[in-house]
Amino acid sequence: MTMNKQGRATSIEAQSDVAPPTISGDRGLDHEEGLIFELGRPGMTGVDVPDVQMSEERLGGQRRRGPIGLPGLSEPEVVRHYVRLSRMNYAIDSGLYPLGSCTMKHNPRLNEKMARLPGFGDVHPLQPQQTVQGAFQLIGELMRWLTTMTGMPAVAMSPKAGAHGELCGLLAIRAAIEARGEKRPRILVPESAHGTNPATAAFAGFTVDEVPATKDGHVDADALEAKLGPDVCAIMLTNPNTCGLFEPRIIEMANAVHKAGAYFYCDGANFNAIAGRVRPGDLGIDAMHINLHKTFSTPHGGGGPGAGPVVLSERLAPYAPLPLLMHDGNEFRMIEHADEAGGGAKPFGRMCAFHGQMGMFTRALAYMLSHGRDGIRQASEDAVLSANYILASLKDVMSAPFGEGPCMHEALFDDSFLEGTGVTTLDFAKAMIDEGYHPMTMYFPLVVHGAMLIEPTESESKDSLDRFIHVLRTMAQEAKAGKIQRFEGAPRLAPRRRLDETAAARKPVLRWRPKNLPQAAE
Ligand SMILES: *Cc1c(COP(=O)(O)O)cnc(C)c1O
Repeated sequence: MTMNKQGRATSIEAQSDVAPPTISGDRGLDHEEGLIFELGRPGMTGVDVPDVQMSEERLGGQRRRGPIGLPGLSEPEVVRHYVRLSRMNYAIDSGLYPLGSCTMKHNPRLNEKMARLPGFGDVHPLQPQQTVQGAFQLIGELMRWLTTMTGMPAVAMSPKAGAHGELCGLLAIRAAIEARGEKRPRILVPESAHGTNPATAAFAGFTVDEVPATKDGHVDADALEAKLGPDVCAIMLTNPNTCGLFEPRIIEMANAVHKAGAYFYCDGANFNAIAGRVRPGDLGIDAMHINLHKTFSTPHGGGGPGAGPVVLSERLAPYAPLPLLMHDGNEFRMIEHADEAGGGAKPFGRMCAFHGQMGMFTRALAYMLSHGRDGIRQASEDAVLSANYILASLKDVMSAPFGEGPCMHEALFDDSFLEGTGVTTLDFAKAMIDEGYHPMTMYFPLVVHGAMLIEPTESESKDSLDRFIHVLRTMAQEAKAGKIQRFEGAPRLAPRRRLDETAAARKPVLRWRPKNLPQAAE
C-alpha cells in the first residue's frame, strides 16, 4: 500500500476501484491536512503586530534567545486548517452516533442560543453576587427540576462530569459514615459497571468488591446481599444497567443495603431511559449523578465540557459540598464557607474552584423548559422505543445475549454471530466507519463477550434508523456468507487507516518537535 507523508493511504486499493491516486494526496473535497507546525512558515502572520520597543531588560536574564517556534500562517490558512480538521471528525451533527452508554443525542440550537445570552455567557465567577442574581436564579431553577425529576431533596451542582459526580457522591457518603463514627472500607460494584465506578471507589480510597451478574444480564441481588456486612460503605449500581436492562430487584437491593447500614449510590448516566417516568428517590437511592451532557443534551465527547450534578437523599443532604446556593427570601447567595451555611449543613469540602459549568446549566435548563414535563417523559419513551426497534430488527442476524427484550435505551449484541467468520467485533465496528457511521461501543460491558452496545437515542427518525439497520443487517449477512473483504483492515475510506491503538496507548507521542527548531514547542 502506498501512503502519502501523513500516512494516508493513496493506493487504488485503499481509495476505490476506479480512481487513480490523486497528485495532491487529497481525495475530492476531503482534504489531507498536516500539523499546523508543518504548515507554518517563519515570518508569516495573519495580523500586524507593532515592533516592541524594549527599553529596559526586566526579565532577570530569562530572555528568550532562540525563535519562539510558533507556526506562522495567514488568516485564511488558519481558518482552512481548522475547518479541514473538523471535516475529518465525526459529530452528532453529521450522522447517527450509536455509541452505547454515551447518549449522543442532538444538541438543540435553542440551547446554544440561550447559553450565549450575555447575562449567562459572559458572567465571571468572581463577580459580586448581586450582579449575577439572574444566573443564580437559573441554577436554582435547574436544581428544582433535577430534584423534582429524581424525587431527591438536594443536589450538588459543582461536579464537572459523571466521574466527578461519582467522587462527590462517595465523599458525601464517606462523610456521613464518619459522622456516625464508623469506618467502612469496602464498596460493592457490579461487574457490569462502567469503568469509572470502580476507578472512583479506588480513587476515594475504598477497596472494590465485585458483584457478579446473572445469566440474564442483571446484578445478582442474592450475591449482593451475601456480600453486605459492617465493613461495606456503599453499593454503586447503574440503572438501567450497562446491558441496557432495568434492574427489577432494585428496591429489594436498596432495602438490603440500607439494612446493612450502607448507602446506595446509583450511576445515573443512563437517566435518559427513565427521566420523567421513574424517580430514583422512590427506588431508595441515596446519591446519583446526572450527566447533563447525556440526558439533557449538552454537547460532549470532545464537543464540550460535561456537568455531573449529584442528587442526594435526606440522609446525605447535609454533607453536600460547597458552594451552596441559598435564597434568603430576598436574594440568592452562594455560600462559600461551611460556617456560613447554617441549617445543620456539614459540607464535606468542595469539588472545584467555582460553581460548576454555567454554560451546561443554561443548555440543560433550556432543554428541560422547551420539552416540559411531558416532553421529557416522551423523550425517554422514544429513546427506549428506538433501541427496541434496533434490537428487534437486528436480533435475527446479529446475536443478542438478552435478545428476548425488551431493552431500555440501548441494544446489546455480542460476537457469537461472527463466530467462524474470521471477523471480530473490532473489524465489524471499523467497517461501519467506511459506511459513514461512528462505531457503536465495543467490548463493553465486559460481562458480554465481544459486546456491541448501540444507543440510538430519541434523536433519530425512523428513516434514519431504517438506513442504519439496513447497513448493519447487510454487513452481518455478508460476514456470515464469507464475504469479508470489507472487514479486512477497515476502515479503508477514512482519513486514517486502522491505528495500532495498543501501541498508541502504551507509547504515546504527545510532543511534537520540528526537526529544524530543536528548542521550539517545548
Ligand atoms: C458516561 C458514563 C459515566 C461517566 O461519565 P463522564 O461524564 O464521562 O465522566 C459513568 N457511568 C456510565 C454508565 C456512563 O455511561
